[in-house]
Amino acid sequence: MSNEQLVAILQEARQMRAEDKERALVECPICGGPLDYRPRDGTYNCRMGYFATRKATQEQ
Ligand SMILES: [Zn+2]
Repeated sequence: MSNEQLVAILQEARQMRAEDKERALVECPICGGPLDYRPRDGTYNCRMGYFATRKATQEQ
């Protein structure tokens, strides 16, 4: 494997991590259930009531 190939693989991995962070938050971090988006107040709510957030991404 050449250095160029190695660098390309590392850059791709870094890019994928960045995309992961920006992915929409769709699962409750407490119970793992789906989050329902409520357009009325712009929050994402756990159906079990364990979690609610205004954040749209997984970034803390
Ligand atoms: Zn939950």
